[in-house]
Amino acid sequence: VSPARIIDGKAFAAGLRARVAKHVAALSQDHNLQPGLAVVLVGEDPASAVYVRNKAQQTVEVGMQSFEHRLPADTSEADLVALIRKLNDDPTVHGILVQLPLPKHLDSDLVIRTISPEKDVDGFHTTNVGLLWTGQDALVPCTPLGCRMLLRDQLGSLSGRNALVIGRSNIVGKPMAGLLLEDGCTVTVAHSRTDDLAEKCSRADIVVVAVGRPEMVPGEWIKPGAVVIDVGINRVEKDGKGRLVGDVEFAGASARAGAITPVPGGVGPMTIACLLANTVTACCRMNGLPAPA
Ligand code: NDP
Repeated sequence: VSPARIIDGKAFAAGLRARVAKHVAALSQDHNLQPGLAVVLVGEDPASAVYVRNKAQQTVEVGMQSFEHRLPADTSEADLVALIRKLNDDPTVHGILVQLPLPKHLDSDLVIRTISPEKDVDGFHTTNVGLLWTGQDALVPCTPLGCRMLLRDQLGSLSGRNALVIGRSNIVGKPMAGLLLEDGCTVTVAHSRTDDLAEKCSRADIVVVAVGRPEMVPGEWIKPGAVVIDVGINRVEKDGKGRLVGDVEFAGASARAGAITPVPGGVGPMTIACLLANTVTACCRMNGLPAPA
C-alpha cells in the first residue's frame, strides 16, 4: 500500500473562511446585513481564553461583528442567564457561544437551554440535537461538521460506507454519528465499554476517533485504504519536550490509510471555520434567506 494522503485541515479551513467572507460581503451588499457572533467566557481558564481570542479574531477577519463578554469566575447563574437572554433579544447578534467548560457552580445544561435555538451556533441545544437526528435543518456542532466536510472532500459521496466513530460525547461522537448516518453510512459508535475495537476498526472504511487518549488506535487496526479522521488533541512529553499528538498512532496508520488527518493541522483548524459558517447560516435563516450550502 502507498502511504496515505495527509489531509490538510489548515488549508481547507482557510478556503472555508474565504467562502464565508464572500458570503458575508454579499449579505452586506445585497441585504445590508452583518452577521454577529457573541462569545461568552466565564472565568480565566487559560486554554479557553486562547480559544475565545482566536474566535474573535477570525470572526472579525471574515467581516462579521464580534461581541466578547468576559465574566468573572464567580458570576451567578442568574447573571449569566440574564446576559444570554439579552443576547437572544439583540437583533445584531446571530450566533451565541458560551465557552465550555463553565465553572463548577454553573449548570451548563441549563445555560445551553437558555440560548435561543436559532442562535445556538455550537449546535448543543436539545432542539438542534433533535433537528439533526430527524433530518431537519439544524445548527450542527462545529467539530463533527468540519470532519464531515473533510470526509466529503476526500470521498465524494459517503453513502454505503462502513463508518466507525470512537467516542460518544455530545460534542463530537454523537453528532458525528448522526451526520454520517444522514449521509448514508452504516455507522458503528464505539466507546469505553465496546469490546473488540480492533475488529470493528478493521472493517471500517471511515474511522473518526474522538476519545482524548494519546495514540490509542494503533496503525495495524486500520483497514488498508480507509479514511482516518483524528479529532483527539493530547499534550504529551516526548524527549523532554511537550508536543501534541492525536488519538491515532499516526506513523503506523498513515502507512495503511488512504487518507488521514494530522494532529495538529487536521481537524483542529476546521472547528472555528465551521463556527463562522454556522453564524452565517444562522443569520441567513433568521432573515429568511437561503443559507450557504
Ligand atoms: P469526552 O471525554 O467527552 O469523550 C470521550 C469518549 O471516548 C467517551 O465517549 C468515552 O467513552 C470514549 N472512550 C474513552 N476511553 C475509551 C477507550 N479506551 N476506548 C473507546 N472509547 C473510549 O471527549 P470529547 O468528545 O469532548 O473529546 C475527545 C477528544 O477530541 C479530546 O482529545 C478533545 O481534546 C478533542 N477535541 C478536539 C476538538 C477539535 O477542535 N479538534 C474539539 C473537541 C474535542 P464513554 O462514553 O463510555 O466514557
